[in-house]
Amino acid sequence: MNLSLVIPLKDEAESLPELCAWIERVVTANNYSYEIILVDDGSTDDSWNVIQQLRSVNQNIKGIRFQRNYGKSAALNEGFKASSGDVVITMDADLQDSPDEIPELYNMIVRDGYNMVSGWKKVRYDNTLTKNIPSKFFNAATRKMSGIRLHDFNCGLKSYNAKVVKSIEVYGEMHRYIPVLAKWAGFRKIGEKVVEHRKRKYGVTKFGWSRFINGFLDLTTITFVGRFGKRPMHFFGLWGTIFFILGFLSSFYLIVSKIIEPEYGITNRPVFYIALTVMIIGSQLFLAGFIGELISRNAPERNFYLIEEKAGI
Ligand code: UDP
Ligand code: MG
Repeated sequence: MNLSLVIPLKDEAESLPELCAWIERVVTANNYSYEIILVDDGSTDDSWNVIQQLRSVNQNIKGIRFQRNYGKSAALNEGFKASSGDVVITMDADLQDSPDEIPELYNMIVRDGYNMVSGWKKVRYDNTLTKNIPSKFFNAATRKMSGIRLHDFNCGLKSYNAKVVKSIEVYGEMHRYIPVLAKWAGFRKIGEKVVEHRKRKYGVTKFGWSRFINGFLDLTTITFVGRFGKRPMHFFGLWGTIFFILGFLSSFYLIVSKIIEPEYGITNRPVFYIALTVMIIGSQLFLAGFIGELISRNAPERNFYLIEEKAGI
């Protein structure tokens, strides 16, 4: 199969028929063999009925229905697992992403050999204050921490070589960082394409303010896990040791100065308290690293590596 479209949705019943009809027009014009995987993420409206109706007319439309709302990342992850196309394209269900972009996104994977291509909503039709401006900060921070030169990490419209989606696991709210996950999994050819963005036609946005706080916490987690997940001691051990040595040297200095000038007190000098605290923090960090190592030693995936190819084995 050429193409799997994975579409997470929550309460988008009005948009679905229009969206599917439009996708069908584009894919049949390009002669792709395809499937549309609609992942109903705990909708409380009529979405699932609509999906079943659409499926009764077109068997290429498939559905997964969550028992409750688990979030966009979970929906994408299940869709990825179920997909069987050589190229996988994700898009939002709210008609803000245009299916007309599908052929070029497909070609960039097949013809140009990109591992993944992310859409870039260069002209954006969302609220300026609550979406567009915060997005700029978010993207700049992600660029800096991940070293990936993308303008729009969180665009719903993306295409992937199937190998990528089968190698990564999207959980929590990590759908914002799929390019980062892909990079950590060794897929470095990440492209970008300017895509048309449209106003939301039906329904309302599902993401509020909390996404910024969660987003930045996730960015810290993902960077840390990517870098030190398999060797936590290299982070905590290093800082623990540095802190401890600083504390130790300060105490040493206090003792020496007490010997030289016995009239100086030790406990009435601020350095004493700083030295004490820094030593304690140092040992705590060291201990955190040690415990981290013990945990990762026992983790079932401690020896799990993604292997690209083998020769003669
Ligand atoms: N979505 C989802 N689960 C959720 C929230 C959103 O599957 O818990 C879907 C939603 O139906 C839409 C896509 O994710 O297809 C993007 O959501 P939305 O359009 O609300 O985000 P925005 O475009 O406002 O950033
Ligand atoms: Mg939207």
